[in-house]
Amino acid sequence: MPQYQAVKGARDIFPEESARWKYVEGVVHALAALYGFSEIRTPVFEYTELFQRGIGATTDIVGKEMFTFLPDPGGKSLTLRPEMTAGVMRAALQKNLLGTAPVHKLYYISELFRKERPQAGRQRQFSQFGAELLGVSTPAAVAEVITFMMQVFETLGLRGLRLRINSLGGTHDRLRYREALQAYFGPYRDRLDAPSLERLEKNPLRILDSKNPDMQEIVAGAPKLFDYLDAEALADFEKVLFFLSERGIAFEIDHRLVRGLDYYCYTAFEVTGSELGAQDAVGGGGRYDGLARELGSSADIPAAGFAVGMERLLMTMEKQGLFTALTPHAPLVYIVLQQQEFAEHAMQVAFRLRKSGISTEIDLAGRSMKSQMREANRLRSSYALIIGENEVRSGEYTLKNLVTSEQTALSLETLLEILHEPVLKE
Ligand code: AMP
Repeated sequence: MPQYQAVKGARDIFPEESARWKYVEGVVHALAALYGFSEIRTPVFEYTELFQRGIGATTDIVGKEMFTFLPDPGGKSLTLRPEMTAGVMRAALQKNLLGTAPVHKLYYISELFRKERPQAGRQRQFSQFGAELLGVSTPAAVAEVITFMMQVFETLGLRGLRLRINSLGGTHDRLRYREALQAYFGPYRDRLDAPSLERLEKNPLRILDSKNPDMQEIVAGAPKLFDYLDAEALADFEKVLFFLSERGIAFEIDHRLVRGLDYYCYTAFEVTGSELGAQDAVGGGGRYDGLARELGSSADIPAAGFAVGMERLLMTMEKQGLFTALTPHAPLVYIVLQQQEFAEHAMQVAFRLRKSGISTEIDLAGRSMKSQMREANRLRSSYALIIGENEVRSGEYTLKNLVTSEQTALSLETLLEILHEPVLKE
């Protein structure tokens, strides 16, 4: 075994797989443009405080999953970002984005870091694509982020993903509900597990998130947040559902759905895939008007967004056989050199071809003509361009079609012209 291994929970992506990533990323970029979302890139690390305020101290992420370090003695603690929303909101506030236009539609494809126990579908470094719509969180805005996300899935050809949706109501609704939950779980104190006991005081809503099978029976009998929503919250939720129905987006209302992060309000949603095993969440999101104020803004900023795990998305696509049509990048031309003494000449031809936009490969290791031909076939190049003494002398190169084996002698100028013909580029 080599001396150095990748860190557990982090992985390498080799060319065959990175072709898949590029394909998925291409779809995300294209649909973001269709929906009018522009890309934002934020730093990989932020001050730890940002996440403590922006995600919430009682969450698992902040409680135990952050990679936190002190860069300088006596300096401020830094954390590798475990999610994007807090950083995007920080950036928007720092730049006063909403002072320049009332609505900003941002998206990202970014690396994140969480100190979780690595297992299938759960890494310590992973990626998400996501969107954040800032400045408006009307049902139309919430429906727009969901529609964007669902169209990405649809365009990728994914089948059988479940969209579950719920409303968490406004702050006042949740305050009433919180009291109701404390009243309900209180008598079960001796049956609650340690994390739930801790959440009972700090954030009883999160008890409902418990994955502990022993807790399920108690959780099942808990009051439903939905029953505590006021008329305005209900009307808001119905409007979101109306938009989704109009667009043919299938959803299931799930009153048990509460997102793990503290700043969500009103609509929350999650997408799961049946092929993923225990870690079945592909993505999720919702509305988070309160986050900006949490980060020091003098008022709420209406906002809605989602994040989708790229690894789980790719894993689902793989399981559904959606990558079979993807062929790795093949060069149009492979230059086959007959005698090494013309290597410099051949290099110059390769340069000319590439310069005019024709993908070209050439042997850099001085291998035999036979192994160059083999390599041309292995790379599934469309043509071999044979260069030898005759070719250099006459200025006409032999272009061999590697499918039909047809050969033609052509000058470099004609070659450049012909290889640009779409008919040959196929
Ligand atoms: P969250 O930000 O926790 O709501 O996660 C959103 C999505 O990111 C999840 O649905 C997963 O697809 C993905 N995700 C979250 N944590 C991990 C992880 N540790 N490894 C891989 N994917 C993850």
